[in-house]
Amino acid sequence: MPFQPPQRYQSPHLPFGDRRDAPFYGKHILSVRQFQRDDLAYIFGVAHEMREMVLRIGAFDLLKGKILANLFYEPSTRTAASFVAAMERLGGSVIAINEVRYSSVTKGESLPDTVRTLEAYADVIVLRHPQEGAAALAARYARKPIINAGDGTGEHPTQALLDLFTIREELGTIDGLTITMLGDLRYGRTVHSLARLLSRYRVKINYVSPPVLRMPRDIVRELEAKGIPQAEYTTLDPVLAETDVLYVTRVQKERFEDPALYDRVKDAYVITPEVMARAKDRMILMHPFPRVYEITMDVDQDPRAAYFRQMEYGLYVRMALLAMVLGKA
Ligand code: ASP
Repeated sequence: MPFQPPQRYQSPHLPFGDRRDAPFYGKHILSVRQFQRDDLAYIFGVAHEMREMVLRIGAFDLLKGKILANLFYEPSTRTAASFVAAMERLGGSVIAINEVRYSSVTKGESLPDTVRTLEAYADVIVLRHPQEGAAALAARYARKPIINAGDGTGEHPTQALLDLFTIREELGTIDGLTITMLGDLRYGRTVHSLARLLSRYRVKINYVSPPVLRMPRDIVRELEAKGIPQAEYTTLDPVLAETDVLYVTRVQKERFEDPALYDRVKDAYVITPEVMARAKDRMILMHPFPRVYEITMDVDQDPRAAYFRQMEYGLYVRMALLAMVLGKA
């Protein structure tokens, strides 16, 4: 008789109480392209509830017994920390591999093998990787949900979700807004995901960047096909007064092949109180952080500076996503 491998052991806490009919149960989160408007309304509804719960009771046991593997091949402060906080506030726990240097990756282990190893121990894997498409590759091998926490210059879907949640919570709506993205639109993955996600709404998008750091043509064309009005500029002046959301990004030093080019464009735009004086009274200034030169610290006291609140909204969105892929929301 040929060799029969043993039946896969099912941990008893896995199936019980999981809502297998939940919309994102067991799903990977790889790109914002997978979200339609009703999905977004659903995610934001859950994120809103998470916020209420955190403000009221701090932590609760929705994901008790569940384990998240946080696998980061690139540096991260907010994304890594907020996923840990999200899991722990939901009563779950985390295997944190923030420094792949100390894992078997250094011994030459492939991404598919690392992912298949971690899913033997964890229920969900959050992955950040320098290569575009890495999360999709991992998902081809994984049986457990993979959440893309940034794949090179590709996408950063959970950031875009939290960015949109921030806009909705702060300005009450997304439809009808003028969003201006400023800085490194070529290499900045957060703006790639955000532009695609905004195309689900009735918005106008302005892109302000040096010519070498323009928004990739395929994204501009994708939005054009959806009828989104878009315009490109090299200075902020022509669009500042009409802007409802000014989304500033860092020039992505680590993606430049030519350091001289980085030096030429690194401080192309700097938001100061003088710039903010020319913006609308009711608008918000956002940034995915880290900031380097782009917003001076004396802007932080301006109530329109939403970037620290944006980080907090990220906690609630990531709590919602974890609960959803694990079938608890
Ligand atoms: N933290 C964001 C990212 O990982 C933005 C940045 O690094 O500039 O893409």
